[in-house]
Amino acid sequence: MSDTPLAVAAATAVQVRERRFGDPLPRPSRTRVLTVANQKGGVGKTTSTVNLAAALALQGLSVLVLDLDPQGNASTALGVEHHVEVPSVYDVLIDGRPLAEVVVAVGDLPGLWCAPATLDLAGAEIELVSVVAREHRLRKALGAYLGAHEAEHGRLDYVLIDCPPSLGLLTLNALVCADEVLIPIQCEYYALEGLGQLLRTVGLVTEELNPGLHVSTILLTMYDARTRLAAQVAEEVRTHFGDRVLRTAIPRSVRVSEAPSYAQTVLTYDPGSTGALSYLEAARELARQGLAG
Ligand code: ADP
Ligand code: MG
Repeated sequence: MSDTPLAVAAATAVQVRERRFGDPLPRPSRTRVLTVANQKGGVGKTTSTVNLAAALALQGLSVLVLDLDPQGNASTALGVEHHVEVPSVYDVLIDGRPLAEVVVAVGDLPGLWCAPATLDLAGAEIELVSVVAREHRLRKALGAYLGAHEAEHGRLDYVLIDCPPSLGLLTLNALVCADEVLIPIQCEYYALEGLGQLLRTVGLVTEELNPGLHVSTILLTMYDARTRLAAQVAEEVRTHFGDRVLRTAIPRSVRVSEAPSYAQTVLTYDPGSTGALSYLEAARELARQGLAG
């Protein structure tokens, strides 16, 4: 009786509200930096970045979200101000402002921080072209920041970087900065189209700029269990990427898409919903995978 989905959902809601999870997630041996990339728009990059980050934080880990999309959707979902006067990732990339002056704590989620993106970041794609060491700007800034964060708050466990839907200099900065790439794949017909281009870009970055980089994680998003197509796409992705695909697929859920309009993640907006439970489970898998690798 106590294991019915409803009972599990209700129990999770209480846990999230009271920040009481029996089993804190294992901490990685060093800060894991993951770039969430897919040049296709609307596949769930931002949704997965903020909800995985919140799920990790709620389960006892410390997490920084770097918003690298000029739209600032990740900042919005985390309730972080990002109008043009706010110090942001733009100032870090273009003016060399320390990341510490930009990062803010996310209000209702202890252990979660965010560096917001403002609209002027759209210009950075072009402005960066003439900047020295243009692909390494973010890596340098993050490297300096990690030590400062550790001195003040303890070591960060995760950095999740939300990328824009392109493979320009912003995404390149994120790839040069990270150890791992997390690719969200929407379970629909064109899901795999364009993935080759992303994988080639990751390959080039690995060869030329960041030898440690690898695609560690694939997350299936907006999974609709009622359709054969979703199952077929999932199967194809699993055949291609093997155990890099998280077992948990994120279901399509209205609650997930509603949460940002309340400046919230689904984990605080509706903690017992299937979307919230799925992101909690995906975060657990991600954390355990970090131990093996
Ligand atoms: P991207 O960052 O790749 O452009 P988003 O994360 O912004 O993609 O998602 C695109 C749209 O799909 C958004 O409106 C978002 O709210 C919605 N969405 C994402 N994941 C889900 C889900 N699991 N269920 C329902 N809607 C979703
Ligand atoms: Mg996005």
